[in-house]
Parts: sequence; structure tokens; C-alpha cells
Amino acid sequence: MSFFKTLNVNDNNDKKSESMKPEERVKCLIIGSGPAGYTAAIYAARANLNPVVIQGMEAGGQLTTTTEVENFPGYPNGVTGPAMMEDLKAQAQRFGADIRWGEVTSVDFSERPFKLIVDNNQPYKADAVIIATGASAKYLGLESEENFKGAGVSACATCDGFFYKGKKVAVVGGGDTAAEEASYLAGLAEKVYLIVRKPYMRASKAMIKRVENTPNIEILYEHNTKEITGTNVVTGATLIKRKGQPDEEEVKIEIDGFFVAIGHKPNSDIFADFIERDDTGYIKTIPGTSKTNIAGIFAAGDVQDPVYRQAVTAAGSGCMAALDAERFLAEQE
Ligand code: NDP
Repeated sequence: MSFFKTLNVNDNNDKKSESMKPEERVKCLIIGSGPAGYTAAIYAARANLNPVVIQGMEAGGQLTTTTEVENFPGYPNGVTGPAMMEDLKAQAQRFGADIRWGEVTSVDFSERPFKLIVDNNQPYKADAVIIATGASAKYLGLESEENFKGAGVSACATCDGFFYKGKKVAVVGGGDTAAEEASYLAGLAEKVYLIVRKPYMRASKAMIKRVENTPNIEILYEHNTKEITGTNVVTGATLIKRKGQPDEEEVKIEIDGFFVAIGHKPNSDIFADFIERDDTGYIKTIPGTSKTNIAGIFAAGDVQDPVYRQAVTAAGSGCMAALDAERFLAEQE
């Protein structure tokens, strides 16, 4: 249960206040707490915009589910994802950013000031909004996958890999995430099947080399998952090799864990009525800026970036969004 809902449970006397808290007015509201949201908060706070950050369901964003980050400039020895996010948060707070638990549950961007509701019960009015809601893991969409979520099916090796020490697991996907998750799991599990639907992987050459050279990773090219099997927990998977080809073949593997690493979906659905998005849901920004189709609403990080999707590019775009918001607010005054 969210923080706001918890507070209201004790408020039995006044039905109205039980359902809705008093409205808060903020100059700059930032939605999301990944590298984009926190960097926007650092810049906005230093520009005296008194930013309020609504952290979202996954405080700290996707990086809190990774282990080592080795490619963020300024950390010559690498840093863990959670530690880096704590650093960014502390840096934003040092300049006065107000970072709050909660999730934005509805928005009305039809007029300024913009209206937002957090956790269904906390209304806000904001003069400028920075959307930095990131992206979430995609799943295959199989019924069996849904049934075994939390019972052997996961989209985060670094969160759940520990449970598969000495066991057999499969990772689906052919990108850098799948390669990285397979490498990580290979250090824990006895055996890792890497299920790739094409005859090749799209991961970077270095990552492909790494998985190919790891003895306990077996790459199953041209395999698709038909079903994940088991009774209460995952015990296997049925795959189709060379689907649609004359030599199509059914392959069964015995596994204890099934990790899905097939990309991410931008967290933008809640803005769909107001903000222009591309076919896959990425928020469209005016090239070279963080500006959306609505003046005063800016987007930063993975929610608007189908191409680079790196922590450092997210942080850079968070900076852009704060500078754009600052200029916008100055023009309004
Ligand atoms: P990608 O979109 O790059 O790759 C997704 C993979 O999943 C593809 O191989 C795709 O297959 C496969 N896939 C998609 N849908 C299905 C399906 N239904 N069944 C089976 N396979 C499927 O996503 P990633 O998350 O891997 O990477 C996203 C971005 O983040 C990339 O730019 C990547 O380079 C970057 N990244 C960088 C890292 C680093 O630098 N350390 C680490 C992780 C990610 P197909 O190829 O056939 O389309």
C-alpha cells in the first residue's frame, strides 16, 4: 500500500478528506526517479524551481535492479546501480529537491497549471512537468509465463538470480540485456540456455563473444518459446526450433528458472490522451530539446528514447529537461 493511502486509513471522520487530500501547488513537478528524473531534479533545484519528485513504483528506476554499472563516466572502478541512484538522490536533495513516495495515477494536461493526482488521493497543480517515467520490461505474452510469474518466471536476473544457484535456467532474448543476464546467471547457475529467435544475436560484439565463450551458456539460435511447463513452479520449457521451416522441431528443456530479456516498453500510457507518442509508445520530443507537443511539459530519459537508452544519456536528457523547464517558466513570469 502506498504512503498516501496508509495515511488516509486513519482518517475516518471526514469522507471527503479520506478520498482526496488538499491540493498542492508546485512550480516544477518531476515524475520518475531514474537517472533522468534525479538529474532533472539536481538542475531544477539549483535553478530555484523547488522541484517535487514523485518517485514512482520503482524508486530509483531500472538501475536499482542491476548490479555493476561500468560505463557511467566518473566511476573509474564501476559502481552498483542502487549505489549510483542513492548518490544521485542525495545530490538532488542537497540542493533542496523534495523527493516523495507515490505514483502519478492520473493527469489532466488540457490547461495550465497542469493537474496531476498521485496515488488516487493527492492532487497537484504544476506550472511545468518533467516526465521521466522510464520503461518497463516486456514479456512474451504466453499464458504459462503469466501463471509462473514469481514462481520461476522473472524479468530481472540480478533481482532473482540468487535463487537459482547451482540450478538450470533459460534466458530469452538476443540483445545486450539478454547477453548480460545470461552472463550474470552463468556465474550462479549450473547451466544457462540462451534462447534467441533469430540465427544471430543483435547484442554488441563484445557481449556476444562473452556469452559464446562462457562454457555453461548454451545458445539456442532460431528457437521460440511455446510454453513454460511445471506444476507449482517452473520445471521446463517447450521450444520450437526453426519455426515455420520444413525441418521445424519441438525441443524440451529442463529448467528451474525462466528469465525474459526481450526489451522494454516506455511507461507513457497514462499520458496518452495529451502527449504525442510514436507507434511503440515513446514520447515524441522536438529534436534537440526535451519539449513535447504541450508547452510546459517536458520528457527525459528512456520514456522518450528508443535509441540510446543508457543511464548517461538519460541523465543528459534530464539536464536538458530542467533547463528547458527553467526557460519556459522564466518566459511565463
Ligand atoms: P533490444 O531491443 O536491443 O533486444 C531485444 C531482444 O529481444 C532482441 O534480440 C529481440 O529479437 C528479442 N525479442 C523481442 N521480442 C521477442 C519475442 N517475443 N520472443 C523472442 N525474442 C524476442 O533490448 P535490450 O533490452 O537487450 O537492449 C535495449 C538497449 O539497451 C540496447 O540499445 C542495448 O544496447 C542497451 N543495453 C546496453 C547495455 C550495456 O551497454 N551494458 C546493457 C543492456 C542493454 P530480434 O533481434 O529478433 O528482434
